[in-house]
Amino acid sequence: MVLNEVLRRVLQPLTFKQHPCAERGYYNVLWPDGNFRRCEPVLSAWLADCPEYSDLHHLERHVCFWCVCPKNELGDCVHPDKQYPRRDHNLYRTLSDAHTKGAEVELLSRHVHRGFNVFRHIPCIVSDFPKPAHLHTMSNGMLDHLQKWIFHFMKTHERRDKYSAIWLSVPAYHDLTLNTKSYEEVSQWNGKEMKEMSWYLFGVVTHSLRGGSPAQGPIFNRAIECTRALLELYMYARYKSRDDASFSYMEDALHRFHTVKDVFSLGQAGNKAKAKANAVRTELVKKRKVDEETNAATWIPSKKRREMNAWRDYITHKIDISNDINADFNCLKIHLMAHWAEQIR
Ligand SMILES: [Zn+2]
Repeated sequence: MVLNEVLRRVLQPLTFKQHPCAERGYYNVLWPDGNFRRCEPVLSAWLADCPEYSDLHHLERHVCFWCVCPKNELGDCVHPDKQYPRRDHNLYRTLSDAHTKGAEVELLSRHVHRGFNVFRHIPCIVSDFPKPAHLHTMSNGMLDHLQKWIFHFMKTHERRDKYSAIWLSVPAYHDLTLNTKSYEEVSQWNGKEMKEMSWYLFGVVTHSLRGGSPAQGPIFNRAIECTRALLELYMYARYKSRDDASFSYMEDALHRFHTVKDVFSLGQAGNKAKAKANAVRTELVKKRKVDEETNAATWIPSKKRREMNAWRDYITHKIDISNDINADFNCLKIHLMAHWAEQIR
């Protein structure tokens, strides 16, 4: 309420009501030299994180601000030529002012709040504004997700100790600060730390996943490819200028990320899915213990090692299946990546 009132006052000169001619985009503006000139003021950009964007646009949380993508499709790959329709704030103003049951249902179906919002009174397409905060979304959003996914992946595949050891062995080099804490010991990441982490994360992941069993090989390769794709996208998003080639690289990296992202479904799983996966693990570990005790007298050390490795792969496989069934990637920041290229252009 307060936010909308503040925005209304700040942006009042741009509204339809204040300047009827604003619909055509031009205003008579008083310049410092005392003359009036016809100008087209443009509301260009602002910096905000996802929750603030939702409040600014008067939308429910966890929905896209730029298009009407359904909540249950936020994790899907969106082809650049097949974007969902843009949000139409003028339509929302009309529906909000209608005060009918039908209009309310229409707004609800688009996850839009009723009431006043200044963007519904400005002659522009809000979705067309340049939004540099995408980089903020990327570095403090998607890279944070990626790190969590990787860490859960390493734990699941019993590579956590190796991962932490390699992480801590990354040397200081030029602007790169020496790591004194392993990933799980860092409670909060700032932008600089995220940027530095992006320089070595791929190498740490690749080396941590070396030497897997034949069954693990394809899974590890997908995890490496997913890490590579997201980091590539991050690097391209940080370019100071781009051309058609770099835009196509961005789109290609995003497409590759969507192709292999399911490999990290454990890290993406919700608490319910994780609890179910843990129950599966506990049950299988009990069975493994019974198997081990039953055959203790007959297994020689090498046989026991092979059997235990087979059990480990089997348990991991079962947990992955359990999470695949229960988890999805319908997360807003994943969907927002589909808009980067078009927003930067
Ligand atoms: Zn969208």
